[in-house]
Amino acid sequence: MSETVNTFEAQQQGRPTGPLVRGYEVIIGFETHAQLSTASKIFSRASTAFGAEPNTQACAVDLALPGTLPVMNKGAVERAIKLGLALGSHIAPRSVFARKNYFYPDLPKGYQISQFEIPVVQGGSVTFFVGEEQKTVRLVRAHLEEDAGKSVHEGSHSGIDLNRAGTPLLEIVTEPDMRSTAEAVAYAKELHKIVTWIGICDGNMQEGSFRCDANVSVRRPGEKLGTRREIKNLNSFKFMQQAIDYEIRWQIDEIEDGRKIEQATVLFDPDTGETRAMRAKEDSADYRYFPDPDLPPLVIAADWIERVKAGMPELPRAMAERYVREHGLSEYDAAQLTQSAALAGYFDQAVKAGATPKLASNWITGEMARRLNAAEIGIEAAPVKAQQLAQLVKRIADGTLPNNAARQVFEALWTGEGSDVDEIIEAKDLKPMNDTGALDKILDEVIAKNAKNVEEYRGGKEKALNALVGQVMKASGGKANPAQVTELLKAKLA
Ligand code: ADP
Ligand code: MG
Repeated sequence: MSETVNTFEAQQQGRPTGPLVRGYEVIIGFETHAQLSTASKIFSRASTAFGAEPNTQACAVDLALPGTLPVMNKGAVERAIKLGLALGSHIAPRSVFARKNYFYPDLPKGYQISQFEIPVVQGGSVTFFVGEEQKTVRLVRAHLEEDAGKSVHEGSHSGIDLNRAGTPLLEIVTEPDMRSTAEAVAYAKELHKIVTWIGICDGNMQEGSFRCDANVSVRRPGEKLGTRREIKNLNSFKFMQQAIDYEIRWQIDEIEDGRKIEQATVLFDPDTGETRAMRAKEDSADYRYFPDPDLPPLVIAADWIERVKAGMPELPRAMAERYVREHGLSEYDAAQLTQSAALAGYFDQAVKAGATPKLASNWITGEMARRLNAAEIGIEAAPVKAQQLAQLVKRIADGTLPNNAARQVFEALWTGEGSDVDEIIEAKDLKPMNDTGALDKILDEVIAKNAKNVEEYRGGKEKALNALVGQVMKASGGKANPAQVTELLKAKLA
């Protein structure tokens, strides 16, 4: 929290609280809709499965037929509790559902059931890396609500698909704590990681399971918050970055041209790369919120929270801290390895199979990450399995494989040319020259040919030895082990 205090002080003193763009400070706050991974809807028993024929998964409750009543889905509440536990939030022992009134063709009831004054999850924070710098973003709240249906437009016809109506959502709202596009995207990635890690959301952004609204404003350092515009429904990290960058440029241009920013809801068009105003932004008073008389307050007992807690997986940050403590990894490496449960699981497996943690970490965050990126696949699909990486790392640790040879083995494993590390070393003749006749012969030749270096070394010039080691390495085709060569040379020249 010290960061927040520093930010507050800087603001009080008129200093920038973040990087400046053309002299302006950028302020960003996020509202994220995470679709909860329950099998049925939040207030009805209809299925939430994606991609069904229109209107085949909307029951009487979702259609708002007269006489129907909503019944709270316990699984949705449990998922909200999990998020609260993961983010260090207060979980309200009693929260209230409210009606948010507005007219939209895909909203049969004429209101959306949401939470307003008393949300289920309150406060908490998300901590993550932006590059190598750590950043904490505070949460205001996370509340449960139902999704609306969809309007589908085809040619001159429009239709309504109510399959999505009543799908459970958790809307996660931050303080306006982000100060750049990079920070905003890193926050969204971290939140995405957490909700999928704890299994409350499938994280599928194309299908709309995780969509973000970015509230963006700009101001001169020291000024009070500027008017924000809200970019709706960002469903890819790439679009998120493009949309926010565009919005920042646009707002600064407007102000520089002497115009005022009007509060608005805007949409990003990936085709033009621009944001476009959709409607003037409503204020909460426009929705005439009031407690929903059809639903009793949501009461969460302490022992329920305890039970949920007991079933939670180790969280990425706790896991990263454990990697630092138990394996001596740097915080940055530990954060890289805990980017996903799958990646951390892979590292755990490699270590369990006997890999030196530091070396395994270097390979996973280095060569492996590069190859996965290039192939656009996740670690689950990596052709090199954890056991194989462990075997490779063991051969590096015991001095069998110098770097260059290790890369060749990795390549062979990746392409499927071989599957057993020792067999590949054998087949490719990568075994280092040991104290065998061949190496001995090379040593003698090098010593004979480099009389000057030998003399210098014997005369006390330690550096001359490096030249000799280099010659031996060259003559061995890189297969000798430099440490061993150094020892053997010293012995011979003693
Ligand atoms: P609403 O629910 O009407 O959209 P809120 O006040 O709850 O309004 O704010 C929504 C989001 O906008 C929050 O994430 C908040 O941090 C962010 N926000 C509020 N004011 C600003 C601002 N001036 N600039 C950028 N973001 C802001
Ligand atoms: Mg909003």
